[in-house]
Amino acid sequence: MICVDMHCDSVAEALKTGRDLARRSQQGHTDLPRLRQAGIKLQFFALFPERAYCPGRTLYQVLRLLDYASETLGEEAGAMMIATRRDLEQCLATDKIGALLTIEGGEPLEGEVRILRVLHRLGVRGLGLTWNNRNELGDGVDESRSGGGLTRFGRQVVREMNRLGMIVDVSHLSEAGFWATLELSRAPVIASHSNCMAIRDHPRNLTDRQIKAIAQQDGLVGVNLVPQFVGPPGAGPSSLIDHIDHICELVGDDYVGFGTDFDGTDELISGVRDVTDLPVLIEALRDRGYSEASIGKICGLNCLRVLRSVLPEK
Ligand SMILES: [Zn+2]
Repeated sequence: MICVDMHCDSVAEALKTGRDLARRSQQGHTDLPRLRQAGIKLQFFALFPERAYCPGRTLYQVLRLLDYASETLGEEAGAMMIATRRDLEQCLATDKIGALLTIEGGEPLEGEVRILRVLHRLGVRGLGLTWNNRNELGDGVDESRSGGGLTRFGRQVVREMNRLGMIVDVSHLSEAGFWATLELSRAPVIASHSNCMAIRDHPRNLTDRQIKAIAQQDGLVGVNLVPQFVGPPGAGPSSLIDHIDHICELVGDDYVGFGTDFDGTDELISGVRDVTDLPVLIEALRDRGYSEASIGKICGLNCLRVLRSVLPEK
């Protein structure tokens, strides 16, 4: 089975705490040896410029994170960067772990599409347009009351990402921004780490209408292991499966995957300590009666479909 995780903040966490993602650690939620143990074949690594670098120093921090990622997620460590469809197919034919670099929040672009193109040249293949706050691209969920969606620059960025073959990520975006993005994007859009509002009422989660719209455009929702987004205190794997169930009932099993948020949160749902507990979640899907075919799609095949449709060929 091919397992893919569409969101972790491990690069920022590791650079900050000084651990090496190529080596097994007791700290944090993931590293390459633990990803291998968990059976994750492809990991999206979000480069997240922490709030301390906002405003003004986010590009600096993203470049540092990018350098750290290329240093620790290289071929010697048994990983390979995924920038094209050819890389993806090559990776699937080896025992390497694929690393796909994304950026969480468009601040580092500094209002300039040229910076997006440079970051793309450096290997970045996805962008979460905003974090919770407002930036040059649009409003995050914390600004939802403004009714603001995407700015003119935000629209320019989505169009350029479509042209370059970058994955547009709407997690953290305000609802108005969400609809503007879906209307504009010619490629499938992902919500890399968001759950269902119908199951857990939280501004970071998606309404049924939003989930249907993502599915209609052949995109994907990655369910997230942050306790507040999953359920009441003490929520565990079974509560997470409730979110997957809900998406499957709403739109079928082709539009849901995992976006764990490992190392982006101090707390995880109960029963999960780090990435090596991924099998617990797969077992919970089996217990809930999911077929092996369905589990295969949810764990990775759905995401491979999106990558094959969005990434540049070579
Ligand atoms: Zn996030």
